[in-house]
Amino acid sequence: MKVLVVEDDKAVADPLVAGLRRNGIDTDHVVFASQVLGAAQSADVVLLDLGLPDGDGLEVLRDLRRVSDVPVIIATARGEETDRIVGLELGADDYVVKPFSVRELAARVRAVARRRRVDAPLDTGRISVDRNRHRVTVDGDEIDLTAKEFDLLAVLAEDPGRAVSRQELFSRVWDPVWVGTGKTLDVHIASLRKKLGDADLIETVRGVGYRLATGST
Ligand code: CA
Repeated sequence: MKVLVVEDDKAVADPLVAGLRRNGIDTDHVVFASQVLGAAQSADVVLLDLGLPDGDGLEVLRDLRRVSDVPVIIATARGEETDRIVGLELGADDYVVKPFSVRELAARVRAVARRRRVDAPLDTGRISVDRNRHRVTVDGDEIDLTAKEFDLLAVLAEDPGRAVSRQELFSRVWDPVWVGTGKTLDVHIASLRKKLGDADLIETVRGVGYRLATGST
């Protein structure tokens, strides 16, 4: 898998590229908006900074979407909510807010890459999530989930063992720009646990969010 990092700030780009490579993710790096369309051709995921020296990242995204459906994660500054909304409307797959950790980015890169391979069911061993057929089985038995429960489980099943933050679950299952505390998430998780028939399959990560138990693999 190869990530194209589009970032003009060397202080951001250098540790990012090094960190992604340490996480086993092959990485290319460009600085200018004019380089993106060409360089994106050999990328599996594009991380796009929106403030580039020769152009606006959102314009780049618009141009890119005319020719490519490569997964794009936009990097925005804290508080730039409009950029995030416009970016998602223009076809970005996800966003990260600066400053973000390499770990978080690596997880999101894997997630968007995986989401694009939607044909492949997520098979974690005991749990199988087939997003095409909208079908979930536990130990081979099909269970009936609501749309939100299904989406929640699909996010958790992308990477069993990874602690998925409440914010990420909210932004991916409900609203990309969701802000708040939200009891809704816990209610859905409780219901999901009940339907899975084994509450231990979804673990609470205190102060963070939830993860699918690796024992489920
Ligand atoms: Ca910049």
